[in-house]
Amino acid sequence: MTDIDRRTALLGMGAIAASVPALSALGMTRQDLGYNAETGEYTLPPLPYAYDALEPFIDTETMKIHHDKHHAGYVKGLNNAVAQLSAIRAKDADIGLIKHWERELAFHGSGHVNHVLFWTGMGPDTPKAPTGPLAEAISRDFGSFDAFTTQYTAAATKVEGSGWGWLAYEPLAGRLIVLQGEKHQNLTMTGSVPLLGVDVWEHAYYLKYQNRRADYVQSFMKIVNWPEIERRFAAASGG
Ligand code: MN
Repeated sequence: MTDIDRRTALLGMGAIAASVPALSALGMTRQDLGYNAETGEYTLPPLPYAYDALEPFIDTETMKIHHDKHHAGYVKGLNNAVAQLSAIRAKDADIGLIKHWERELAFHGSGHVNHVLFWTGMGPDTPKAPTGPLAEAISRDFGSFDAFTTQYTAAATKVEGSGWGWLAYEPLAGRLIVLQGEKHQNLTMTGSVPLLGVDVWEHAYYLKYQNRRADYVQSFMKIVNWPEIERRFAAASGG
């Protein structure tokens, strides 16, 4: 990819604005986020811990399939969408398929970013709750940590179909909000910075929890990597 192609490709990514403008505000490098600036391709970052590190809350088999197959599939789909849109611009592919490839870009692009944030947002032996400015902001904006947890877990559990529960920083008001994401890219608030996401697609929990999504979400709350979420909040809020 030439520099101009790459820049053009990035400009074409307005469709995944849901997540992307936020990323520079997360204090994460492109490499952390699974982008290789040398090749111009997205990559699958390794899990930041062993496949069995989150047992018994998330089982080893689920982690292997989820990371190595599902997330890898989003990376592949994202690179393919970027390449197909480039081919359309070069008149090597049918512009009649523009809607399809733009949708693919948004879906796989958001799927990729969401999963990077998901893996790094969890960890073994994590503290039970946030501290410092994030803890203060949660109390200010939700009333208490318990009230936040109630809203967040209810929102995540009640996502219709496949999607995500998010804690996000909303920069207009400078407040924390909870969002439900449908699929990977829908029902977001443009410009909001994703801080903590729980994947509630069935592939994230079905092997261990079957239809008990609420139990899985409760388990997720026990493995949140709060120091990382505190770091993201500080980057997002300029604090
Ligand atoms: Mn997933």
